[in-house]
Parts: sequence; structure tokens; C-alpha cells
Amino acid sequence: MLNNIDQILAQDNFSKQDIVCLLSADETDRRKIYEKALETKAKYVGKKVYFRGLIEFSNICAKNCLYCGIRAGNSNVHRYEVAESEVIEAAMFAYENKYGSIVIQSGERSDKVFTSTITNLLKKIKELTKGELGITLSLGEQSENTYKEWFEAGAHRYLMRIEVSNKELYEKLHPVDERHSFEKRMESLELLRKVGFQVGTGVMIGLPFQTLEDLADDLLFFKKFDIDMVGMGPFIEHEDTPLYQYKADLIPKLDRFNLSLKMVAILRIIMKDINIAATTAMQALDPLGREKSLKVGANIIMPNLTPIKYRNDYLLYEDKPCTDEDASECRNCLEARIKIAGDEIGYGEWGDSKHFANRK
Ligand code: SAH
Ligand code: SF4
Repeated sequence: MLNNIDQILAQDNFSKQDIVCLLSADETDRRKIYEKALETKAKYVGKKVYFRGLIEFSNICAKNCLYCGIRAGNSNVHRYEVAESEVIEAAMFAYENKYGSIVIQSGERSDKVFTSTITNLLKKIKELTKGELGITLSLGEQSENTYKEWFEAGAHRYLMRIEVSNKELYEKLHPVDERHSFEKRMESLELLRKVGFQVGTGVMIGLPFQTLEDLADDLLFFKKFDIDMVGMGPFIEHEDTPLYQYKADLIPKLDRFNLSLKMVAILRIIMKDINIAATTAMQALDPLGREKSLKVGANIIMPNLTPIKYRNDYLLYEDKPCTDEDASECRNCLEARIKIAGDEIGYGEWGDSKHFANRK
């Protein structure tokens, strides 16, 4: 007789209860989910893994998210902004090494100096790479005009994690004020789509107060919003943050890792043609974390191109990996890792979300 997991996996649509059941799967059942996810990946997005060279532009942030190591309130952080010439250099490295795309990520700032610096950088990078390098932004919440300005300057994908799709939980993880409004974050995702971006979102997994029901709702939220790309990974505590006080209540890191893998696999099964990132936080908990993510459905990797001298200042969480390897070492290491996972690299391609293209 089929057990519950087989019955669930045989369906076309999963209910919240089905997802909770999949998220609770033990080791044997987990494998069945992973197999189905890998099958789905092969069928709908293929074996190609796309690179997004990550530039951590600045750790200056106006916000105070209670989980994040570079929150404004953490006075132990040495603040930096990567110089324009260094951003261009990193972008050219990506271009010359056929990465296809870059991601510019940063703490959140919305002042004019910041927004125009980004606009100018986008224009320069586009010009120097003859429009060939794809650019994704992950710069937090901005006005509609700023999104438009950046889109027109050449960025075409935007990542903004909702962090958690449950408003009550969101308010436990952020100060409750104008600057950290759940509604505003949600509206931002709508605005980004309206402006024309391919929109990515995501959540943290294994947060204090978070339940499997919450995580099931997160996956259903991605589906309902019809998102193009997802980056999600384990929550990892940081000593200099208010959430650190709940360290003892967290599920063990190995369980957080496995739960994150299950989230990736289930997402691949329910949203077959989207882009899913194998995130750095997965690697922070397991040296093979990103390869394991590729094996259960992820198809995007973000090699770090931030100049080494800044890397130790962009510590969103503890034990962040690859803070001491330069870009070319990183490339060699990743190439080998991706081959081990049985995939190949989509060199020189943007690797846009097929889901975005299929919606049009
Ligand atoms: N400031 C921008 C982008 C940089 S933060 C923004 O917040 O959107 C990028 C992501 O890092 C966040 O979305 C969050 O999900 C993740 N992050 C922050 N602190 C973390 C932690 N302690 N553990 C795991 N991920 C974390
Ligand atoms: Fe700033 Fe982003 Fe960290 Fe929040 S998660 S404190 S917005 S860098």
C-alpha cells in the first residue's frame, strides 16, 4: 500500500496540510521528495545552473531588522561602500568570465546620493558590457520612481525577500514602525512587478516562533503571488542582534538545513519553471550545502565577487563562508562543485526565469 507521502506526491496540487506533512517527512520519505524535485527540475528547467556574480555594495543600512548582523543598531560593524571603480572591476570580471549576470546587494538606503550612485553604476556597467551583462538588484524598499529609474538604467531583475509571509510573525522579527511595515514590503513586490522587473522573493527558515504551518503558507504565498524567482535559506543567529536571545529555542542547525532542503524541493515541485537559488546560507550550515540544493531543485548560484577587503564587514549572520577566497578561486571551486552535483554551467547566458517568459 502506498504511504501518505507517495499519495501526496502523486497529486497535481498540494494543500497546506499536504505541505506540512511533506515538511515533516523523515529521512526515507525525504528522499522521495528529493527525487520528485530533481525529476521536475530536469523536465522543466534542465541541467543548466546560472551564475549571478554577487557584489555586496555596502553594509550601510537605515533599518533595524532584529535578525540581521548589519542592522543600523549594531555599532560593532565597520561600515563601508565599495568604490565605483571596484564595482566596475567586479562587473567586468563577471563579464569576461562569462557569468552572464551580476547581483548588486546592499543595506537599505533611499537617499538621493545612494539612488543616483546606483543609477550611474548601472548605466556604466551596461555601457561597458554592451548591454550583455544581466543585472539583478537587491537593495531593499524604494519608491516607485526609484524602481523605474533603475529599471530604465538597465537592471531587469529584483530580489526582495518577504522574510516571512505571516504578518504577526513579521512583526516579531522587526521593529513595529513605518520603516519596517509588512504591508509596505508586500506592496513593494507589487510595484516591482508593475515597473517590469522579474521579481524574486524568499524567506528565512528555522526562525524563532516559526512553525511548519508558517513555512507551508510561505510556499503557498510564492505560488499565489506567481513569483518568478526565489532565494531562501536557513536563519542563522548573529550574536550582535536582538534575536540572539532566542538561540536556545532554535531547532538544531542540521535540522534547519534539512528543513531548508525540503523547502527548496517542495517549491520546485509546486513551481516547476521558476529560478531557485542555492543560497550561501545553505553553505554556511553545510560545506556542500549549495550542491545539495542543486540536487533537490535549485538552479542558480551566486558566486561572491565582493572585493575581499570588504567581505568580513558584510556579515548578515555567523559563519558566513567564502570570506577569504578571491573571485577566480571562487570560480574554480564552484565549477568543480557544480559538476559534482551533475549539472553544467550556463556560461554567458542571463538565465532568466522561464516562468517569467511563460507568463507573457
Ligand atoms: N537590505 C536588503 C538586502 C540585503 S539583506 C534587504 O533586506 O532586502 C539580504 C537578506 O539577508 C535578507 O532578505 C535576509 O533574508 C537575509 N538575512 C539577514 N539576516 C540573516 C540571518 N541572520 N540569517 C539568515 N539570513 C539573513
Ligand atoms: Fe538592513 Fe536588509 Fe539587514 Fe534588514 S535585512 S537590517 S534591511 S541589510
